[in-house]
Amino acid sequence: MKYDVVLVGGRIGGSTASLFASKNGLDVLMIEKRQEIGTPVQCAEATFCSTFQSLGMKPSPEYVRAEIYGGTIHSPDGNQAKIKGEEVGGLILERKAFDKHLAIESARAGTDIMVKTMVTDLIRKDGKVCGVVAKHLGKTMEIEADLVIAADGVESQIAPLAGLKTHYSPQNVGSCAQYEMVGMNVDPNYVELYFGKNIAPGGYLWVFPKGEGVANVGVGVKNSPYAAYHYLQKFTSKLSATPVELNVGGVPLSGMVDKTYTDGFLLLGDAAGQVDPLSGGGIHTTVECAKIAAAIASEAIEKNDASARFLKKYEKRCNEAVGNEIKKSIKYRRIMDKLVDEDYNAITKFLQGHDLQSLTKLSMMGLIKAHPTLLRLLKEIL
Ligand SMILES: Cc1cc2nc3c(=O)[nH]c(=O)nc-3n(C[C@H](O)[C@H](O)[C@H](O)COP(=O)(O)OP(=O)(O)OC[C@H]3O[C@@H](n4cnc5c(N)ncnc54)[C@H](O)[C@@H]3O)c2cc1C
Repeated sequence: MKYDVVLVGGRIGGSTASLFASKNGLDVLMIEKRQEIGTPVQCAEATFCSTFQSLGMKPSPEYVRAEIYGGTIHSPDGNQAKIKGEEVGGLILERKAFDKHLAIESARAGTDIMVKTMVTDLIRKDGKVCGVVAKHLGKTMEIEADLVIAADGVESQIAPLAGLKTHYSPQNVGSCAQYEMVGMNVDPNYVELYFGKNIAPGGYLWVFPKGEGVANVGVGVKNSPYAAYHYLQKFTSKLSATPVELNVGGVPLSGMVDKTYTDGFLLLGDAAGQVDPLSGGGIHTTVECAKIAAAIASEAIEKNDASARFLKKYEKRCNEAVGNEIKKSIKYRRIMDKLVDEDYNAITKFLQGHDLQSLTKLSMMGLIKAHPTLLRLLKEIL
């Protein structure tokens, strides 16, 4: 078996890159170790409307559960600030349906897909990656490729096989736990975020509406005394709602890894740290980088050059597309890591009465004036 490109992993990264590579006329295989694309979900399922512009797709009710206009921030002292937007800025998806939809679109564009098939090794010739070894129901097979793209998630086993270091120490990974709950009394068009050391140390707790009293209730923590599940139980035990699904997972929060390419090989998505380290959101950044991976793959195949020297431009273009956002978020994340409950109380109080449009630089100065500790933190960081 021989392909132009083999994708390892069949979720956002794998499906988007294979979709665009197939649309470009490449011969593409996507391999997913799970028996069904998109399961189990490890996501709070929120993304920006712009993700769909990037995908060139119109969001469909088949997988969109809620349209989001803004959010309510809850501070540790029990105060809240509702930030209203005029238009839909975000969407809450049903990732199981969305990931599968992307895979179906990719297959329609010509991608071959293997499910319940695990990539266990890379094939190398003269130091260059030139295919994968995969296992399906006890049968081992070798599949050759001009380029292998690994989108196998935060715990990537394929990156080290290619000689790339992902460096995810526990301090650099947000640990998350989430229930999808039924019987939630929530505004169907607003997300809710809770902050505080007893609620979600080093992170936040979210309630994302999914329509008809259903919502994702989740917690992300960093460097915390207890696991995320502890805080999830603590919060949800007070609700008169019941879970229908539990998700747990890690999010890389240290930015893009040092190197995302080598001869015959690219690293994509969570595996490459292409995640916003402040919010933990990786859908939109992964989509951008997957499109770049597909474009570079097409150029490499056309020029018959999948050398590291040629593929280097993948990393450059990813940095141009999402690098600034990620770097800015690393700075904000460093501020967030130092915030204490009093800071969240002050921020929430300040935000009361603001809408998204009025949150200008000038009003941020007002916040800093009213709460000088924040100025100290900003000075330290900048
Ligand atoms: C709890 C939680 C909540 C989150 N909430 C949000 C959110 O609301 N919004 C947002 O934008 N982002 C969110 N994220 C991050 C987002 O889910 C990821 O950034 C995104 O899914 C990354 O996609 P990916 O394709 O890179 O990797 P993944 O989604 O991790 O997919 C990797 C795929 O590779 C497969 N695989 C792994 N190894 C192999 C192998 N050897 N062979 C074959 N297949 C393999 C896996 O089975 C999996 O399907 C959240 C993450 C977590 C953990």
